Amino acid sequence: MPADSPADPPLLRPATLAVTAGRPSPEPDQPFNEPLTMASTYVAGGDREYGRYGNPTWTAFEEALGALEGGRALSFATGMAAVSTVLDLVGHEGLVVAPRHAYQGSIVALGDLEARGRIRARLVDVTDTPAFAAACADAALVWLESPTNPALEVADLPALIAAAHDAGAHAVVDNTFATPVLQRPLELGADIVVHSATKYLGGHSDLLLGALVTRDDELHGVLKGRRDLVGATPGTLEAWLALRGLRTLPLRMERACVNAAELARRLEGHPAVAEVRYPGFGAIVAPVLAGGELAGDLLSRQTRLWVHATSLGGVESTLERRRRWRTEAATIPQGLVRLSVGIEDVEDLWADLEQSLDRLVTERPDTAG
Ligand SMILES: *Cc1c(COP(=O)(O)O)cnc(C)c1O
Repeated sequence: MPADSPADPPLLRPATLAVTAGRPSPEPDQPFNEPLTMASTYVAGGDREYGRYGNPTWTAFEEALGALEGGRALSFATGMAAVSTVLDLVGHEGLVVAPRHAYQGSIVALGDLEARGRIRARLVDVTDTPAFAAACADAALVWLESPTNPALEVADLPALIAAAHDAGAHAVVDNTFATPVLQRPLELGADIVVHSATKYLGGHSDLLLGALVTRDDELHGVLKGRRDLVGATPGTLEAWLALRGLRTLPLRMERACVNAAELARRLEGHPAVAEVRYPGFGAIVAPVLAGGELAGDLLSRQTRLWVHATSLGGVESTLERRRRWRTEAATIPQGLVRLSVGIEDVEDLWADLEQSLDRLVTERPDTAG
């Protein structure tokens, strides 16, 4: 392998980029990290001009996320603001192909646009690569998510991105679950990466933020134009907190993934568990309880360390029976409980889960009532 020429900076690895990217250049007495800039108005004459068009704190977050994903990032008020901005690219009655178990907010957004005659939507099993690829033939935009939330299906991203491009469609990947630590869709050919930075990027369950990442400057310009026009811009404090969270993303993912793999293994052997959905990577595990709906509801009430809550990706472990939401797909089993595995000690996590699962077996909720 040729050595880096002296003029090229060395290629930094993700854990280093997470810490260094987006920092101001080191000058005496300047802040080491990007400070919070609370400003709606800038003095005229530069290229920022007004608070809706840009902010140095957003830029720092965008530089760090862009470095990790290998593209140019743009931050949004929430993940859904980013999702909606992408869907807005689709022309009148254009076809969007998406996984039937994609994030429910994205599915609801597609349904809403379709009901109003704006677009057409086609939902397909993303694990059936030939069927999904065939469905893309006349698509304007191909929406991908892998692993899916909460079914934890894994898509053949290179094949489906190629199918999108064969159709002349944009290939979009929601990378919220894998994060750039585990998967970099732009390197696989995707045009746009979507993030709910609310989840792993922020990582502390204390903010809402979204992001898009692309390599194409023209596309970046179009997306930024729409964001600024509708005002789907982030809060400055949220961007600052998310950047602080991003600094430890590789470290947090490392621990959460080790915990998740161990819990998936132990869950497999528990009699209260009929099936374990776990793609073999990532920090979400979804056991399907033998006792179905009732067992899922009991489990979410009985644990102490695991908190019953929606959302995911924080340092804290949370769990939720997904079908408690009316909008969740009917093909998601009633007894599926989504575990968002945090960074606590895995023995404490298991002890809490195990005592609750044991109670399900001894108290037999499946036969009660
Ligand atoms: C949460 C989530 C979103 C939406 O993000 P918000 O920040 O809640 O608006 C989109 N995609 C996935 C996969 C998510 O988990």
